[in-house]
Amino acid sequence: MTASDAATPRPPIHPALVSPDHLFPVVEGPGPVVALAVHAGHEIRADLLAYCLLSEAERLREEDPFTEVLAEACPTRLVARRSRFEADLNRTRASALCETPEECWGLRVWREEAAPGLVAIAQAEHDAFYARLADLLRRIEARHGRFVVFDLHSYNHRRDGPDAPPAPAEDNPEINLGTGTMDRAYWAPVVERFLAEMRAVRIAGAALDVRENVKFEGREVARFVHEGFPETGCVLAIEAKKTFVDEWTGALDLARLLALREALGRAAAGVAQALGEVGR
Ligand SMILES: [Zn+2]
Repeated sequence: MTASDAATPRPPIHPALVSPDHLFPVVEGPGPVVALAVHAGHEIRADLLAYCLLSEAERLREEDPFTEVLAEACPTRLVARRSRFEADLNRTRASALCETPEECWGLRVWREEAAPGLVAIAQAEHDAFYARLADLLRRIEARHGRFVVFDLHSYNHRRDGPDAPPAPAEDNPEINLGTGTMDRAYWAPVVERFLAEMRAVRIAGAALDVRENVKFEGREVARFVHEGFPETGCVLAIEAKKTFVDEWTGALDLARLLALREALGRAAAGVAQALGEVGR
């Protein structure tokens, strides 16, 4: 055995999945609003970690920590436990694994020799997630006719560094609502109600800056639901600026996080009501 053999980890094991109950826990409660936190996860499979070139802090910076707490605004929710670097559920199946720096904020994520095995694992998890999501949404649709998905994310605004000024507020709303893949006219009552409820909130003495499609328009989750449930499912892709968590240190502003969760809870009640006005 040479020194370089010793440094090479064993190939990843077959993408036999652990239980989807573990990967993507679902809590089901009353009402037609479902919260998703597909980038909340931070775990990476032990057999893959040996191939990952990122530090834990680098991973965390691009993940959406605490969005699983925001998801508790809705009695029904589905949260991903695994890191988006293992399988990015809000990208297409073909690009579920972040392979090149161009796809990953300039980061080299994986040792190259691992890529084929990792792609298979990422795609198997992607398949399992969308099967589970479709099952859940069909049950909600059967119960309520129409439903709304809060597709919860968070985004960085201090990419120039912890000591550099943050990105300008005019291009970086506190909440970016993505409605790019929906039939916007058909779902207008839901979208307008969400915007109105969120804009009525004051946190730390200031009104929330909530705007539509300024930075993000929604991605694979939104596309999947709008294609599969065109008249019954509305995805609100919600990107919260990381002002409730420090993107460089991971430090949490608990009061702000809980205020946002409360605001989302009120918005969920509002959009549930607004569903009755859709299609009239
Ligand atoms: Zn995200």
